[in-house]
Amino acid sequence: MIKYPVNLKLQLCSPAAKHWWSCNSQLKFKDGILVYEWLDTVPPKLLVMVPKSMKQEVLVNCHNTKVAGHFGQQKTYNKLKSKFMWHGMRQDALIHVRTCEVCNINKKPNRKAKGALGQFHAGSPMERIHIDILGPLRESTKGNKCILVVIDQFTKWVEFYALPNQNAQTVATTLTDNFISRFGCPSMIHSDQGKNLDGNLFRELCSLLEIPKNKNHGISSLLQRSGGKIQQNHHSMHSLFFKRETKRLGSKFTAC
Ligand SMILES: [Zn+2]
Repeated sequence: MIKYPVNLKLQLCSPAAKHWWSCNSQLKFKDGILVYEWLDTVPPKLLVMVPKSMKQEVLVNCHNTKVAGHFGQQKTYNKLKSKFMWHGMRQDALIHVRTCEVCNINKKPNRKAKGALGQFHAGSPMERIHIDILGPLRESTKGNKCILVVIDQFTKWVEFYALPNQNAQTVATTLTDNFISRFGCPSMIHSDQGKNLDGNLFRELCSLLEIPKNKNHGISSLLQRSGGKIQQNHHSMHSLFFKRETKRLGSKFTAC
């Protein structure tokens, strides 16, 4: 049974209390827990009303854990509002993410686009693969410091390989021995690792494998202009790796 304040007492209450009073018909008890009936979904969803003393714990669970993945403000808020409710939840979520130490350490600087974005569509598997390198990370017990990420643009198939360094020879050998030997030769390779991969050796590899290179766009510029979902996915993976690595500071990185 919910006891509602009389109007006179309500005038002295907090903005939160006044807000919940205005929609008191949506407040219910379910299994002894106070819930809010969210009517914007079909069927209506029951959201757990979080007491002030538990807000921080809920925020941490929806943002800071490995499963939560330190996603951004909007995604963290979306996750919260799928199950919980409290007055000022959006603002609390924004502040929590903005002040998250791990997120701030790994925040990517905003880079200005170098040119107009173009769309590159792959029509079949292995038509275009994207490669990128995460790192340098903390050295693993096997002496690896970087991770080579290879994504097939059409199938979205992703593979990761541990690397001791990110020079062109190491990348080319790993790519041919582990990926190209299994899936065949791609029609085109994209990468934004211009300084490391656009060297002579990598150019030679493309030449040996007869992978055509666009004369107007080097492999480095193609990915930057490609936009699309692959880059978004890749950015998420990149963030996730670095955030997890940051959380493990003080212990050896043994993922690879
Ligand atoms: Zn964070």
